[in-house]
Amino acid sequence: MNIAGNTKWLHWLILPALVFCPLPGQAKLKVVATLPDLGSLAREIGKEKIDLVVLGKPNDDPHYIPTRANFVPSLRNADVLIETGADLETSWLSPPLQKAQNPKIDIGKPGRVDASQGIRLIEMVTTVALGSEAHPRGNPHFMVDPVNAARVAQYIAKSFAATDPTNAASYDANYRKFDAVVSAKVRGWRAILQDLQDKHLAAYHDSWPYFARRFDLRIDVFLEPKPGSPPTPAHLTEVIQKMKENHIRGILVEPYQDRRLAEKIARSNDATVIDFSLFPGGIPDTDSYVSLIDQLVKKFAAAVK
Ligand SMILES: [Zn+2]
Repeated sequence: MNIAGNTKWLHWLILPALVFCPLPGQAKLKVVATLPDLGSLAREIGKEKIDLVVLGKPNDDPHYIPTRANFVPSLRNADVLIETGADLETSWLSPPLQKAQNPKIDIGKPGRVDASQGIRLIEMVTTVALGSEAHPRGNPHFMVDPVNAARVAQYIAKSFAATDPTNAASYDANYRKFDAVVSAKVRGWRAILQDLQDKHLAAYHDSWPYFARRFDLRIDVFLEPKPGSPPTPAHLTEVIQKMKENHIRGILVEPYQDRRLAEKIARSNDATVIDFSLFPGGIPDTDSYVSLIDQLVKKFAAAVK
């Protein structure tokens, strides 16, 4: 067999491979998002132009995530780091971040997105000493208000454009599209939730003040005495009493919380436990940020009607 004479066909294999493999200068933007809600927004803005790593899983407790093997290498290689801020991730993100030694994602650099910038925190405290264990500087769960999420999407688009100017127009267009979808959706969500303002729900943890404020809802009885503090028998007696007084028929529970305890409290009030999540993927049929809010709105309305 004449090997030399047969090499011509190799060109047909190699040439397309060269055309479609990105050259080193065109490598994708490496993005790390701390939590799945931010990861979903990064995907909306970056689409196929980014390589995305999301550190936390949808079922994790976002206040305390153990360092996994991929944290330090992902942070070391990142062009962009997106975090919630407001001290939600500080306790678990700081150690791997220090080990990663990556100046591109230092605070103040275009590669660092602090989603909490410009967000007015609810339950704001001025010093860490006054805050609760899980919310040392105020309530950090602002992403579940879709208007805040659209704002954060804009920060992300700006950071991507600054760190990867070649694709700036694409990031901007994707942000505008996301913003338009959310604006239209908010009107629909409001319509579903209107006239439910006098109905209260309880929650395991104080995760929903921004969601409740956006849609004028009442989620104001919590199984935890303070965010991050485990429920005590005395506090739970109070919870049962408040649920009776306010005719509360549902307790919102997230994947990482003690569902059996919530079920016990619910039973003593003829109420039910409702699976809620701050993160896409934490409850069924939520593969994106928008589908997550769709589900939360639907479940809230079903629970109080
Ligand atoms: Zn919290």
